[in-house]
Amino acid sequence: MTESNVKTREQMDATYQWDLTPLFASDEEFESGYAKAENNLDKITAYKGRLGESPEVLSEAIDTLLELGREVSNLGVYAHLKNDQDQTNPTYQKMNAQTEQLYSKYSQVTSFFRPELLAIPAEQLEEMTANNDRLKELDQFINDIARNREHVLPPEQELLLASASEVFGGATRIFGYLNNADFQFPTVKDSEGNDVQLTHGLYGKLLESTDRRVRKDTFEGFYSVYQQFENTLAQTLTTEIKTHNYNAKVRGFESARAAALFTNNIPESVYDTLLDTVGSRLNLLHRYVDLRKSLLNIDDLEMYDMYTPLLGEPPIAFTYEEAKEITLNALQPLGEEYLEIIRNAFDEQWIDVYENKGKRSGAYSSGTYDSKPYILMNWQDSLNSLYTLVHELGHSAHSYLTHANQPYEYGSYSIFLAEIASTTNENLLTNYLLRTYADKDIQRYVLNHFLDGLKGTVFRQTQFAEFEHFIHEQDANGQPLTAEFLSENYQKLNAKYYGPSVNSESEIKNEWSRIPHFYMNYYVFQYATGFAAATAFADRIAGGDKEALNSYLGFLKSGKSQYAIDTMKTAGLDMTKRDYIEQTLDVFEQRLAEFEALLD
Ligand SMILES: [Zn+2]
Repeated sequence: MTESNVKTREQMDATYQWDLTPLFASDEEFESGYAKAENNLDKITAYKGRLGESPEVLSEAIDTLLELGREVSNLGVYAHLKNDQDQTNPTYQKMNAQTEQLYSKYSQVTSFFRPELLAIPAEQLEEMTANNDRLKELDQFINDIARNREHVLPPEQELLLASASEVFGGATRIFGYLNNADFQFPTVKDSEGNDVQLTHGLYGKLLESTDRRVRKDTFEGFYSVYQQFENTLAQTLTTEIKTHNYNAKVRGFESARAAALFTNNIPESVYDTLLDTVGSRLNLLHRYVDLRKSLLNIDDLEMYDMYTPLLGEPPIAFTYEEAKEITLNALQPLGEEYLEIIRNAFDEQWIDVYENKGKRSGAYSSGTYDSKPYILMNWQDSLNSLYTLVHELGHSAHSYLTHANQPYEYGSYSIFLAEIASTTNENLLTNYLLRTYADKDIQRYVLNHFLDGLKGTVFRQTQFAEFEHFIHEQDANGQPLTAEFLSENYQKLNAKYYGPSVNSESEIKNEWSRIPHFYMNYYVFQYATGFAAATAFADRIAGGDKEALNSYLGFLKSGKSQYAIDTMKTAGLDMTKRDYIEQTLDVFEQRLAEFEALLD
């Protein structure tokens, strides 16, 4: 669709738009809610300096804190959803800016809470909790804060660190400005011979070109900029790594990784197990690369040949109404309780389906404890949109079950778990499509979609995680992270992952210099663990194992009532052990074999 024939929101059928009235019946109701929340913010100040006074005072203070957070997030989510449905609407732009101010006031007035709670001696806090019923319910909430105690420094040192936070953020900001604003990428000729200016967005698109000359020019042109600035980029990355290592050290952690994983209470063995297990089965990725080489009929396979589609245009497409039907069929293994939620999502207008003028692009699931878990989409009649729909419904059903089964204080879930629910649904859709469509073209396409997804998420993100950990350790050991050192080691790692069939001595050795995630302090591994957990869950549930299904639903209902790693353990998935990753790689192997067989 071109911009000119995209309709305004008012011209569209309202039954395919989300209904936000259960959150706030009108903008007027939002305004009065806003005034009330702004007034209420002061309530928390009455508890400043008094948290250790008595169990009653502490429980009242926590309830006040939670209540304020709840009000602020209801307002914030309403404003951001309204703003996203049409970003050209000045009323909602203003509303959105207003709630950002409210968030910021909320963080200011509540900033005393955490350090003050941590200052209460452990024994005293335990005794207070033991003698108050409400505090007993809040035990996990309190413990999750209190376990930080041994890594908190005396107040004057905390103040020094806090006031240097802008300095610590310097490397990320410099990299961001270089990468997003200052870099001038060259132009390349597209397949029709037109000059196009390379951008980050276009880079990915052009690497999917079926014209190898376009892919080569794009890859070499894009990387030429990073190579020109490789010494500067080595310094921004080094500075970021040093910041992680420094902060971990001053807070008494053994390593940056220990500090980063401590945030969500994830054992480091989860990380090591991921690297070991994936590392021991890289022959599967090599086999996939070989297959790509023979399908593309290329003797000297390059990294820029990794993204061009193997099979051309998708052989099937669906309307939204058809997609609803398929979704309900595909998610059947999750049982009636789950399907009822999906039906409600369709019938109660949780989903903003189609594109309209000014609407935010892409897709997401968003809501609050008190709202429906809404979904924004920009539906196109395609297989991709169907995958997006079941993905976002996975997030929304997860939110719904969490809200319905947990009190407010535990009514959310951690990032570590979020993508498991959505990716499990994608896996169930893959199973369903493979079962339902006998057509060879469709079978091939769906298998390829799965294999590419797993390659990009499990193999590639594990490669990043391995490199990220390696450079943190090298810096901690005093090794200077020069551009030469980084490139040499990146090249080795790339050769290890992709195998001998592809050239790792090309510009790819500079890939370390352009990945924003290396500035995110041990974040990427969660993409790989999440995808692997989801594939293992889907495999168990699809096999009709009733117990596996109940455990899975238990996970979706558990919110933050336990630490993420314990939630998974309760659901039958021990993420400190290899099994779930092995099971996932078994599925990859099996589908790779099916794919190979279909190509013969
Ligand atoms: Zn997601």
